[in-house]
Amino acid sequence: MAVAPTDPSVLVGLESAKRVTHAIAAQAAGVHGVLFYGPPGSGKTTMAMHLAACWLCNAPVDGLPCGECRSCLSIAKGRHADFQRILPVQPSNWIRMGHITSNAEKEEEGVVPVIDFFRTGPLLGRSKVVLIEGADRLYDGAANALLKTLEEPPPYAKVILTTETLSRVLPTIVSRCVCVVCELPTDQDASQVLGDLTPAEVALVRGSPGEANRLREHRELFASLQAFAQGLSRRPRGEALVAGEEFAAIAGAYGNAFDLGARQANAETLELLADYLSQEGALNGEARQAVIEAHRRIVGNGASGIVFDALFSSILGR
Ligand SMILES: [Zn+2]
Repeated sequence: MAVAPTDPSVLVGLESAKRVTHAIAAQAAGVHGVLFYGPPGSGKTTMAMHLAACWLCNAPVDGLPCGECRSCLSIAKGRHADFQRILPVQPSNWIRMGHITSNAEKEEEGVVPVIDFFRTGPLLGRSKVVLIEGADRLYDGAANALLKTLEEPPPYAKVILTTETLSRVLPTIVSRCVCVVCELPTDQDASQVLGDLTPAEVALVRGSPGEANRLREHRELFASLQAFAQGLSRRPRGEALVAGEEFAAIAGAYGNAFDLGARQANAETLELLADYLSQEGALNGEARQAVIEAHRRIVGNGASGIVFDALFSSILGR
């Protein structure tokens, strides 16, 4: 898992989210559950990691992390004995019972269940913090197990949740958290961070600063996919196999860059290809259907070689 940034100054806008988060962090006690919600790329995870750093720091300054103590140094590296980050598991994309309680039938690899994690006090930091991303992906059993912790937490226990869709999080969870909205920046704010991107790149990142940073870090990769998309309409049908192999190589590089499994990397690269083809005006009728079908088969665990062959046989040579 990539190390998530903990410094909210990289985020544009979000003034109210930052204010609320700092108010929570400055309180000596009280709040122990916070839910950040907002669209993809709005900075939820960075805000969540920032709050975790505030809560873990041993010598906070007005509630903010000192940046120098052992706790701050550990969390900056993404590893901290008193911090645990939980994400939904593929392919179901659910947070499982084994993430929350050890009474579950199946243990989750590398995860100490939340309830066990909170059984003992902090080793290094001031608190123990669990970050659960995709709070809407907690099904009833797991959510109910978590509720007990949210209702009667040990004094050192802090739970941070994030979601893209607040309305899909169980009301019993929402009512026990302070909810903090993370909105995408206004056009004016966004232009400050998106200014160096081309119009095509701005469209690709959908105005999101988080996505823009991602694009900037891997510009060559996105450029190679864009060049691939632009060249497709000029390629003869006989090159379908070669095109499929080239695309698979780009998807592989994408997976390496973003630490994704093959299926997710293939699916996301297909989504990006669709975006680029749309910008080219090359995604009409049959081509659109072919990409949608390829995406459906990849997500359904189809063999990527066969899926890509079929896709490029269908869209080349038109
Ligand atoms: Zn510190």
